[in-house]
Amino acid sequence: MLVNLKDVFAGGAPVDIDYTLDLSQLEVPGGTFPFAEAVRVLGRIENHAGVVTLEAEAQTMLHVICDRCLSPFKRNLHIPFQNILTDQQLDKENDHILVCMGQVLDMDLLVTTNLVLALPMKELCRPDCKGICPRCGKDLNSGPCNCKPEGHPAFLKLKELLEDEQ
Ligand SMILES: [Zn+2]
Ligand SMILES: [Zn+2]
Repeated sequence: MLVNLKDVFAGGAPVDIDYTLDLSQLEVPGGTFPFAEAVRVLGRIENHAGVVTLEAEAQTMLHVICDRCLSPFKRNLHIPFQNILTDQQLDKENDHILVCMGQVLDMDLLVTTNLVLALPMKELCRPDCKGICPRCGKDLNSGPCNCKPEGHPAFLKLKELLEDEQ
């Protein structure tokens, strides 16, 4: 959505933003589509004595894959963000000041950037996810597998270390 800022830059009434954004086709590194569900965008643009501010939030149900056990799961993502908007070219870059050339704000682009930046490097289905056995591939959250402990890479590593010490 493109938001026309002419009135608000001129000191006019605030602009309310309330819409849903479809990012279901947005593929992120790793080849997944985390924004399978609609993103709700709410916000307000106001002119406070000549300073134009944007306060907004984006909310969606994220579809992700656990980094340890590879199970797909969903979680809530809610990110608030704030910016100062200007229609003037800046001398220096500033993360909080958004230059809106032509007095138009590309809200979709801003929301998409903020959402992608909010994605963590790793997703865990739960903090204590046990992951899958590296030997047999069993999901260890549903119980232990039958692999012998000495076959586990961590134990092999430990054995190597102990042998090095002798
Ligand atoms: Zn997991
Ligand atoms: Zn196993």
